[in-house]
Amino acid sequence: MAVVGAGFGGIGMGVALRRAGVERFAIFEEADDLGGVWRDNTYPNCNCDVPAHLYSFSFAPYRNRRIRYPGQPEILNYLRRVVLEQRLAPHLRLGTAIRDATYLENQGRWELMTQSGQAVLADAVVFAVGQLHRPNIPDVPGRAEFTGAAFHTARWDHTQHLSGRDVAVIGTGSSAAEILPSLAATAHHVRVFQRTPHWVLPKPATEFGPTMRTALRLPGAQRLYRHALYCGGDLVLAPIMRRGWSARPAEWAARRYLRRHIPDPALRAKLTPDYPIGGKRIILNNDYYPTLTQPNVELITAPITRLTREGLDTADGAHHHADVLIFATGFRASEFLAPIIVRGRDGQMLHERWRSGASAFHGLAVPGFPNAYLLAGPNTFNPAGSNPTMKEHQIDYIIQCLRWRDEIGATAIEVDNEAMQTHQRWMHKAIAETVWPEAGPSWYKHPSGAVTNPWPATGRRFDQRLRHPPAESFHAVPARVDTQSEHTCS
Ligand code: NAP
Repeated sequence: MAVVGAGFGGIGMGVALRRAGVERFAIFEEADDLGGVWRDNTYPNCNCDVPAHLYSFSFAPYRNRRIRYPGQPEILNYLRRVVLEQRLAPHLRLGTAIRDATYLENQGRWELMTQSGQAVLADAVVFAVGQLHRPNIPDVPGRAEFTGAAFHTARWDHTQHLSGRDVAVIGTGSSAAEILPSLAATAHHVRVFQRTPHWVLPKPATEFGPTMRTALRLPGAQRLYRHALYCGGDLVLAPIMRRGWSARPAEWAARRYLRRHIPDPALRAKLTPDYPIGGKRIILNNDYYPTLTQPNVELITAPITRLTREGLDTADGAHHHADVLIFATGFRASEFLAPIIVRGRDGQMLHERWRSGASAFHGLAVPGFPNAYLLAGPNTFNPAGSNPTMKEHQIDYIIQCLRWRDEIGATAIEVDNEAMQTHQRWMHKAIAETVWPEAGPSWYKHPSGAVTNPWPATGRRFDQRLRHPPAESFHAVPARVDTQSEHTCS
């Protein structure tokens, strides 16, 4: 078995493989450390907006029960602990990027090619590379001319001291909202370039009070609280993404929150979205709005026209000085698996299949690509819940697929075209009932407009759909007898 990626998905998959008695597997990781996005994002105040009791594996709760919302260092330490406790370290192949994956039809196996040109054979492959890991750095005219420091939030340059300097931030998503308070506290001047305002809601306190801490010590309380959070997401947050009245209370709360923190009507108008709440990822942050009212912080909404040696020009003819430029411009989330080239049966190329937007059966299998699975694949990001939990559901299903393949004695199994089409019909209908089609571009969508990333229903619905056994939707694929050539690799 080969697993590609050592973030939440790859680590969870490794644990499940060991528990299923599979010991011959490797987890390939491009970087020199595990952790995925929680290794990459080291910007100041990087936090999670999903509570720790839910943003974790069901089998491994956090040790520190005081923390409600974990920060980046806590999550990275948590993942390291899981790897240690579950004895996954011998399976990790760090610093090993997989660049190419080819299905060998005469063997029913996958050949993976590493960046250094080493070939690896695997009975099955699980791509667990995530969705939010490839920085999106817009091609602003004049980018090469800018002489100051410039970096993306997920590649934070810790050698840059921002104290007393003029800092420009492009983008106003969750990452920008998190870095702004610390920038405002150190920099001379912070200019925030907003293209589209996001909806913002307050975030509950990071630490639990004494009563809750005591309650969480009771036997079974952690599990119960996790379940309550799971159900709460389904009952309260999932309806926000649906069109119609169910989003109104959240929109009302967000407008009220905006009015309370932004007294200036002109600034408030700039910060008021013109698309339904939930259309883009809602920002949960208590410091973002107050930071925008500080005297050394300026919100600029005129479009950026070019970068110059010393700053940015905007369409209103203004020039904005910057010593440091921070791209808080998000990720190339709709380019699933890129830059890995994946070749399936009959020479099918996955990136060609996904040219107008990625899709996969339950987000984890694609017809024509036997014995290949995805974690955090298309339409599996749950904006109303916890993604480690979504991944656990997918991992359970993949284990069932592996077991079923062994049970029927097949070399390879592949999802049926018909099952995929039924799945897609359901997906289109479910997406049509959400606010996403009418909202503007975001990382939820492919440039074609197809909604490719978020899951359009409740977490429970995802779990229910994955309870149907693979035998209902997959079929065996025999290895093709090939008398022409015998494929060999090291
Ligand atoms: P993001 O939500 O995709 O935001 C990117 C921002 O950059 C948007 O404001 C976008 O404007 C702007 N932008 C992109 N290209 C631009 C261009 N060419 N010119 C001007 N502006 C441009 O990215 P993110 O803030 O990194 O967050 C991504 C996701 O990561 C979040 O939605 C969340 O799921 C996760 N995250 C979570 C946390 C947390 O848990 N606390 C923290 C950070 C990130 P438009 O809106 O107009 O496109």
